[in-house]
Amino acid sequence: MMKAPFALVLLAATTAWAQAQRDPLAWPVHDETRPQPPVVNPGTGVPALTPGEPPSDAIVLFGGKDLSAWKSQKGGGPAPWKVENGSFEVVKGTGGIETNQAFGDVQLHVEFMEPTPPVGVSQERGNSGVFLMGLYEIQVLDNYGNKTYPDGEAAALYGQYPPLVNACRPPGEWQAYDIVFEAPRFDAQGQVTKRARATVFHNGVLVQNGSEFTGPTTHKARPPYKAHADKLPLALQDHGNPVRFRNVWVRELKERQ
Ligand code: MG
Repeated sequence: MMKAPFALVLLAATTAWAQAQRDPLAWPVHDETRPQPPVVNPGTGVPALTPGEPPSDAIVLFGGKDLSAWKSQKGGGPAPWKVENGSFEVVKGTGGIETNQAFGDVQLHVEFMEPTPPVGVSQERGNSGVFLMGLYEIQVLDNYGNKTYPDGEAAALYGQYPPLVNACRPPGEWQAYDIVFEAPRFDAQGQVTKRARATVFHNGVLVQNGSEFTGPTTHKARPPYKAHADKLPLALQDHGNPVRFRNVWVRELKERQ
């Protein structure tokens, strides 16, 4: 008779804990007390030391030479970031860049390198971002030995879901995100019928497993979904830090036949 209540309390506590793991809204946005993702050494396999050939059906967004697949988010003119030695770098104050082509469901590969020596702390160190559809951010940040609020870590669904683990490499080394992104769906009334969803590998390590965006990304808030086009440009963020990128390609995902 004494055991049942205890078991029930334990069950309730465990369920609440599991719920908190799953539901990003169980934690206030940018909550510093949210558990920090454990640090994992990603090993040496991903990315390759030198980029290889992308899959034959990939659309190359940056193959090492120019930013002709991109435009400025500010004026719509040529992407104003610096191309050098097979990579390109954020130019502070010029604003984000976005692809000329619009995308919906995609597999995306992007490599990035954090500035060395590292400058700044928390969100001010090597901050950029991969904005799927220009709205849903996978955070780019130098979190190697640099603590920040968990839902703002590298590979977080920014402001919503921390990564499962911190698989960062040190600044000055190439890193990779492999992202499977499913665009949200809306009904005729503009209500969301399927949330945007992301699975992310950081340096080959699973860090987001089908995580659902609560809505578009903003700072210090979690706004609701607003209906938008089926396809929108992919964007990279200018957060004022000279983050470099290379080997960017995307595969459009079609419905299974
Ligand atoms: Mg960012």
